[in-house]
Amino acid sequence: MQNSSSNPPNIGFVSLGCPKATVDSERILTRLRAEGYAIQPTDDGADLVIINTCAFIDAAVDESLSAIGDALAENGRVIVTGCLGARAELVRQTYPEVLAITGPQALAEVMAAVHAQLPAPHDPFTSLVPPQGVKLTPRHYAYLKISEGCDHRCSFCIIPSLRGDLVSRGIGEVLDEAQRLVESGVRELLVIAQDTSAYGVDLRYRNDIWKGRAIRTHLTNLARALTALPAWIRLHYVYPYPHVDELIPLMAEGLILPYLDMPLQHGSERVLRAMRRPAATERVLERLERWRSQCPELALRSTFIVGFPGETEADFEQLLEFLRAARLDRVGCFPYSPVAGAAANDLPDPVHESVKLERLERFMAVQAQISHEKLASRIGTRLTVLVDAVEEDAIIARSYADAPEIDGEVMIPGAWEINVGDFIEVEVTDAGDHDLWAQPVDD
Ligand code: SF4
Repeated sequence: MQNSSSNPPNIGFVSLGCPKATVDSERILTRLRAEGYAIQPTDDGADLVIINTCAFIDAAVDESLSAIGDALAENGRVIVTGCLGARAELVRQTYPEVLAITGPQALAEVMAAVHAQLPAPHDPFTSLVPPQGVKLTPRHYAYLKISEGCDHRCSFCIIPSLRGDLVSRGIGEVLDEAQRLVESGVRELLVIAQDTSAYGVDLRYRNDIWKGRAIRTHLTNLARALTALPAWIRLHYVYPYPHVDELIPLMAEGLILPYLDMPLQHGSERVLRAMRRPAATERVLERLERWRSQCPELALRSTFIVGFPGETEADFEQLLEFLRAARLDRVGCFPYSPVAGAAANDLPDPVHESVKLERLERFMAVQAQISHEKLASRIGTRLTVLVDAVEEDAIIARSYADAPEIDGEVMIPGAWEINVGDFIEVEVTDAGDHDLWAQPVDD
């Protein structure tokens, strides 16, 4: 099924999974466009389909397998990459007709598989790619992946076996990419990694050269250098290592967003030990207090797991106590779900599904109250918001406290002449459990 040169070969691309997988997809798409392939988001009519899969929990494995099944039924020519690709035998057993399978971050292997099935066109016009590469996110924000893999071994997680130990990107390369993105119109950079705080550990924080000067491969240096760019800088997946303290003054000065996404997972020391998490909750509470006194605007986001094997009612009560004391701004919570290959599967005393769901409900009720109180305290205050969408009767925007897709939104009712990606000043008029309502203000 080959195309003529006037009609470039067409590849259907399906991207599943987390922001880190999105960045892998963007790299593959950028290379495909650079080589002149046309890309479409559906399977139908494509010359072949690439599926970047996720395997973080069993539900993600099911979703990825069903996407492969759908693409095979609709199109028949499918290449599988990403985290589920690291479990090639499972994919092969389920779908022997798949053309090729690669693991995550396997740009070269994916391209080799594509070339074997569908040679590249060599058309100089279709080969043009924008300098920032192909992005799957809207034009006004982008993920900036600073490292891959993880040196931790949390018992519920198989990411290190899928993606390997920590490998940091050179700081010069990261800063070049950040600059290109901002020059192409990106107004918000979301810094991501499996463990953002560990950036540079594997490189022993070595110096790199950027714009003729030496710069240390370290999160604090990276954050400082990024402040020179005219964009919001938001940090995700930050673990509470001691040097995170150094970031708070940058937030207090308004140089990077006063927002930290810090996955804490539990509030009971006993459960945290079983999870093999490197965090002591008491010290986390102390540090949150100190950070807030240095930077009162700080918005904290975290995620938690309820119903981890061995979690007792007393552990769960401790988690609720932690939640009430920490008064986090944004919280995600998941009932524990075993992942094939995770060490936690061998732990005794699994929690019954009905208890997991009951705990999830109690957890979310406590957090909804905290979130509502915190948002209600913003009524009457002014915020700068970034416009995500302009609809006929409302603008949908976000403040510094809202990361795209995972946090709340700021709704601005009415028809306004404004563009996606603009920053505007608003006054908050109302608050729900997760979102705010506001009106533009003229200065
Ligand atoms: S820190 Fe733990 S949960 Fe996060 S990627 Fe590493 S091993 Fe997995």
